[in-house]
Amino acid sequence: MSEESLDPADAFSLLGEDVRLNIIAALDEATGEPIGFSELQDRVGVEDSGQFNYHLSQLVGHFVTKPDDGYRLTAAGERLARAVSAGLYTDSPELSPFGVDGTCNSCGLEALDAAYADEQFVIACRECDHQMLEVDVPPSLIRGRDPEEALAAFEKWSFEQVEQAYAGICPTCGGPVNHGITEDTADVLPFDVLPEIVCEVCHRRVRTSFAAIARRDPAVNDFHERHFVDYRSKHYWEVDDFVSDDGLELLSESPFRMQVTFTASGEICEAVVNDTLNVVRVEIRHTADEDAYKVDSEPGQ
Ligand SMILES: [Zn+2]
Ligand SMILES: [Zn+2]
Repeated sequence: MSEESLDPADAFSLLGEDVRLNIIAALDEATGEPIGFSELQDRVGVEDSGQFNYHLSQLVGHFVTKPDDGYRLTAAGERLARAVSAGLYTDSPELSPFGVDGTCNSCGLEALDAAYADEQFVIACRECDHQMLEVDVPPSLIRGRDPEEALAAFEKWSFEQVEQAYAGICPTCGGPVNHGITEDTADVLPFDVLPEIVCEVCHRRVRTSFAAIARRDPAVNDFHERHFVDYRSKHYWEVDDFVSDDGLELLSESPFRMQVTFTASGEICEAVVNDTLNVVRVEIRHTADEDAYKVDSEPGQ
């Protein structure tokens, strides 16, 4: 029995009935053991065999398979069951605004609140309403955690999402990704353009900052280590380089070249990022003299 591909709209209409979600849940509880028709009907609790058979037959071939010894979930059915239990298709938890460390990069006040609603984690200034960040976050990351635990989980989770996407693996579906840039930045910070990693399969988008991309370069990392700049001991939104565009300069649109400037005592580090999120040039110099050294991976530049 092959698993036919299904249009997403059809998939949702198939699942619109509670009975069908209950069938998926009952088969999921059986953890791979096949269940016969009457046993399954009992577990789901539908009295009318004809009605039950109708709903079950709508699932067979897509989410449910029927080898000779009974019904069980297909791989797609198991993924769906996991998604349902993770709360992706059920009601969303909320967190009322609660104070977090850090300074608003618009008004400069220490007045930041974090909140969660409509599956969005938001950090914004309660004085001037400036939004520092807004990230799509699955409800299961928030549910069952108090605000401090949710904040810690959110930070760890977003860090790992970016790491995985940057390494070439979609954090949602595992598919291959493309590294690029986007001008769709209206919801975040002061940026006109941001690095963006997009999944070829599920189109999941992961955005990060040019400073965070530049920081991955060994020469830039070395610069920060020499100056004892430890990004990991701060919250992401407390690092000016990540949430402000002060250190950014667009050198060229075509080819795309974004320069990120880091300053530390007595030294300046300039790193240039291209539109596939590679660091193509790093220049470090003392602020007092013209003595500079370059790490240049772009021949002829
Ligand atoms: Zn503010
Ligand atoms: Zn994906």
